[in-house]
This record gives sequence, C-alpha cells and structure tokens, in this order.
Amino acid sequence: MKRSLPALIALLSLVGGLAGAQEKKPAPQPHPTGYTDTPFLPGGKWRVHDDNRPRPDVVTPGKTSSEAPSDAIVLFDGSNLDEWVMDKDNAPADWIVKDGFMEVPSKGQGVGGYIRTKREFRDIQLHLEFATPEKVEGNSQGRGNSGVFFLGNFELQILDSYENKSYADGQASALYGYKPPLVNACRKPGEWQTYDIIFEAPKWDAEGNLLKKAYISVLQNGVLTQHRQAYLGATGHKSVANYNKVIESGPLKLQDHGNPTRFRNIWVRELDLDANN
Ligand code: MG
Repeated sequence: MKRSLPALIALLSLVGGLAGAQEKKPAPQPHPTGYTDTPFLPGGKWRVHDDNRPRPDVVTPGKTSSEAPSDAIVLFDGSNLDEWVMDKDNAPADWIVKDGFMEVPSKGQGVGGYIRTKREFRDIQLHLEFATPEKVEGNSQGRGNSGVFFLGNFELQILDSYENKSYADGQASALYGYKPPLVNACRKPGEWQTYDIIFEAPKWDAEGNLLKKAYISVLQNGVLTQHRQAYLGATGHKSVANYNKVIESGPLKLQDHGNPTRFRNIWVRELDLDANN
C-alpha cells in the first residue's frame, strides 16, 4: 500500500502518542557534576572532569562585546581622564575630552604629550576604540599616528592605514618596527575602530635573564591581526627592539604623535595567565 509522506507522519505520531499515554517515561538521570574516579591529568593535581576542581569565577558580560564586563577596570568612559596622567611629569592628563571621547591635542597649543595610566599592569585583556582624523592630512606615518604602549614600552601601532602606503611594520596593528599585521583591517579615516587585545607581559628570573618574551594577540574591528605574536623587545624607532631592560609591569601609554586621534571606551581586565586552576 502506498501512502503519502504527510499521511505516514500523521500515523507515526498517532502511534507514538498512544505509546506515550500507556508507558510513563522514566525521569531523566541527572548528569554528574563531576567525577572523583577518573584518571589524573599530567601534573597529578586534578582528575579528568574533577568534581573538586574550582569552577571559573562568574563574569557578567556587557550587553555587547564592546561594553565592559563586570570584572573590568574602566580606564575611560568618555567623561574624564581621572585614570590618566601626563607621561613626562605626572601632571593631570591634558588631552581634550568632549562628546564622549578624548582627543590628542593639536600641535602648537602648548599642551599634549604622551599620557599614561596611573595604574600598572602585567598580563591584560584590553578593549579600546579609536578614530583617526576624518580629514586626511600628511602622509605615511604622519596620518593619524598614535599607539598603545604596554608596560609603557611595547607599542601596538595606531595609524590611519586606510589606503596609506607607509612601511609595513608601521601600519595599524603592527608591532611597531618589527611585525606587520596579518592583514590590513582598517576602517576609513574618521570611523570608530576597535582593538581587542591580549597582552602577556615578559618574565625574568632574579638575575634579570629573560624567561619569557612579551606576547600579543590583536583583533582589529573583529579581524585577527596578530596571533600570539612575540615582541622582539621594547619598541624603538629606526632601531632594533631588545630586552636589555627588565620590564615586568607598567602603565598603558597612549602616544601623542601630533595627530588629533580620538579614543573612547577603554577598559582592561587583569589576567593571571600563570594561575594553575
Ligand atoms: Mg605610533
């Protein structure tokens, strides 16, 4: 006997319904929350799926991936520069704050210079938004140049790299003077752009020997531009970076390169990447 497909489905569901009415389904077995009889992982501290292993701390994410999560330190929310000082003399930061962003003061106003956070950091996750000047002035490294310096020394370049044929290791998302980004993910001049960054601080032994280099991973506008890239050392200009100086922690620094680059929505999460949890 040939049946149409809808008729067959109707028949099957009817049979299923009758069977369900006759036998009560057994209550689902609860899944164990963990195990205490599984093999140990290398190192012997925790078993596979160990029930005694501490669960991760709960963090409430922001409503969007740009909004600071509950455990973030907000370094700039658009209202003031309370978390920042002038790098040169520790005076209150004098960059322009208006309309929810900060801006590098234009040259010739007798103000400006690098600013840095009052706080010092080691390993961090950083979210930062920037916009290079809408009106394109200058060329190459003179276009919307700024930068984020981790531990005050390891620069991730900010530049208006939109259709800008400047040298590769000076483009936005470059480890300045060393490593070009994987791709050029720049938006147009004047448009807001995002950096989402994981920075790992270098490690040294008691004698000042380098144990681990600094590493950085970067998403620019959601596009991977650096993937756990090691720094060659503290950033220099027209010189090869090096690890001659022990730098274990330090502030975040923003560069005044004479271009009115804007910033907004800056927050960090302190990380403890060595924690054995
Ligand atoms: Mg720069």
